[in-house]
Amino acid sequence: MSVLLETRDLCSGYGDVQVLKQVSIALEQGQVTAFVGSNGAGKTTLMRTLAGLLPTRRGGIMLAGHTVDALDPPQRLALGLSLVPEGRLVFPDFTVADTLRIGAYAPHARAGWRARAEQMYELFPRLKERRNNQAGFLSGGEQQMLALARSLMSCPKLLLLDEPTLGLAPAMVDELFAILGRIRETGVTLGLVEQNIQTALSLSDYAYVLEDGQIALSGPSAQLLDSPEVQASYLGIR
Ligand code: ATP
Repeated sequence: MSVLLETRDLCSGYGDVQVLKQVSIALEQGQVTAFVGSNGAGKTTLMRTLAGLLPTRRGGIMLAGHTVDALDPPQRLALGLSLVPEGRLVFPDFTVADTLRIGAYAPHARAGWRARAEQMYELFPRLKERRNNQAGFLSGGEQQMLALARSLMSCPKLLLLDEPTLGLAPAMVDELFAILGRIRETGVTLGLVEQNIQTALSLSDYAYVLEDGQIALSGPSAQLLDSPEVQASYLGIR
């Protein structure tokens, strides 16, 4: 097994506020790695720093063998890292079809974009039905799927998802996770921020628990699910 993304003692934050304090993580190729923790623990800050939306202050990020701290988000995208941000952020006036096309704007992703869009419609039948609708008229769950499909149009090796299930109805959450399972089968490595620790541990291979910008706990997800410490502190099981 090889590591696709790794950080060493990563520090970042906003202005005078240091949020991430020496965070060291490793995402194995082909696996699902979950990031859990309470509000304000630093999960979004970690995702934004990995994607290059926030600068590394100290420490470093290695992606597929490259040190990427000096690279901007498009350059990291070219190396295969794509972030589906929290809140989805699709352009409301663009149609589904246009949004997918925009997802393939990066030079490395342009060739074959039409065929890839068709693959997206197979993976997300709801988007096929709505291909000519404006994104702003889609439901929350459909917008999340569109944001995910847009990211997949960039041919990522590593897809980071920041709370993709936030605000979605349970049936939509199940549908989304089923699709993530299929994406994983295609060999894409997944990093998943998820509020619900039970869900996160059930769906991932490995997990990190963040507390106050630090890794409080980490390990194979199945092991964490069985751990009395996790059950008592995070799952409310005594
Ligand atoms: P949530 O589940 O609420 O999204 P999180 O674990 O993703 O939580 P972050 O959003 O990374 O947490 O926030 C970590 C800390 O950074 C919090 O204390 C937050 O108030 C602070 N923070 C987040 N964004 C900014 C910003 N733009 N400017 C200043 N501080 C920020």
